Amino acid sequence: MKELLELYQEMGISPAVYAYGERALESLKDRFAAIDQVAEYNQAKVLRAMQKNKVSAACFVPTSGYGYDDFGRDTLERVYADVFHTESALVRPQITCGTHALTVALSANLLPGDELLSPVGMPYDTLQEVIGIRKSPCSLAEYGVSYRQVDLLSDGTFDYEGIRKAINSKTKLITIQRSKGYATRPTFSVTQIGELIAFCKGLKPDVLVMVDNCYGEFVETIEPSDVGADMTVGSLIKNPGGGLAPIGGYICGTRECVERCAYRLSAPGLGKEVGANLGLMTSLYQGFFLAPTVTAGAEKGAIFAANLYEPLGFRCVPNAAESRHDIIQAVELGSEAGMIAFCKGIQAAAPVDSFATPYPGDMPGYEDKVIMAAGAFVQGSSIELSADGPIRPPYAVYFQGGLTWYNAKLGILMSLQKMVDAGLVKL
Ligand SMILES: *Cc1c(COP(=O)(O)O)cnc(C)c1O
Repeated sequence: MKELLELYQEMGISPAVYAYGERALESLKDRFAAIDQVAEYNQAKVLRAMQKNKVSAACFVPTSGYGYDDFGRDTLERVYADVFHTESALVRPQITCGTHALTVALSANLLPGDELLSPVGMPYDTLQEVIGIRKSPCSLAEYGVSYRQVDLLSDGTFDYEGIRKAINSKTKLITIQRSKGYATRPTFSVTQIGELIAFCKGLKPDVLVMVDNCYGEFVETIEPSDVGADMTVGSLIKNPGGGLAPIGGYICGTRECVERCAYRLSAPGLGKEVGANLGLMTSLYQGFFLAPTVTAGAEKGAIFAANLYEPLGFRCVPNAAESRHDIIQAVELGSEAGMIAFCKGIQAAAPVDSFATPYPGDMPGYEDKVIMAAGAFVQGSSIELSADGPIRPPYAVYFQGGLTWYNAKLGILMSLQKMVDAGLVKL
């Protein structure tokens, strides 16, 4: 469309970059159609749970103070539990982020003398201090919880022999991270996670399994809770918040595990009974309602990015053709300059703070300097258009989000434009 081309040109996208993007899109029609089908299914799943639980205007009434008998909060937790097919759920604005949700789930269900096992290699950066892999006050290690890790095999698959050897009488909880995080290993499909859970529970039937589901929600038609996870955990400023939740985390799982999480989050004896909704219910419900389509848009953006960058010689994880199990696209840019140019483009395409310039800096919980591009309505929200990555080889940026597919598309085009402008790419 001529008007679109002109408008994009005014925004800084050259005709060459636009045309390169359109050529890549031609080949993606079937994949986008498949994503729309998953979104339609997940939309119906969420709607059915909302209807079954009779969501009404009364659910949106703000509460304050202790939050006893908080109808909106309790109904939302039943909606989450129905969507994830679990006995119970804890969905709270008092859970401040994904790391917090995971910390609550771990520390509620591990006691001194217990051992935690990660059979999928090193956990996400912020979890390393939680576990005590990197020393930190109040880590699980400080409380006498030991940790064992089995790395993935060199081809990215599970080391079943190593896992068999690692599971012992102390192994109480197994943590499985679905998404790659800041690593360049593959993200696991829910089916793969199910196979791993079945293997572990075959060796030790009473072992608990927690899945870090960050960025994975609604990418497939099933969730880790459908394949045997005792706790499925994530952040509301990623997929399930649909871009509208301003804060929060969730833990969906067995009644027993979730009850312990509630006791850990508030206090023994109080549990789920306290925790006012602070007027956030409309955002949490509406965000969950929008989450399937928002996630679909973000996934399209990720696939588009891989199909733009891979032919230019940059390694992409997942690669341009691979099936998807989360919304993250890693692009190995090979240099700090590449990371900066890419992030500048993402920032320039954002609805908020598009005039800002991202630079690498120190971040709490991360060991290396990190660069982050984000022009989001909700601070730090990574279901919104964003890119980030630690400044270390292979200089990979992790691109994700975009509340609409079109914003994601513009972000990727703009990132490529900045790479071209910086002389780092020739089309
Ligand atoms: C984002 C993320 C986390 C931590 O979530 P925060 O909300 O940033 O604390 C944990 N694990 C994975 C895989 C993530 O992507």
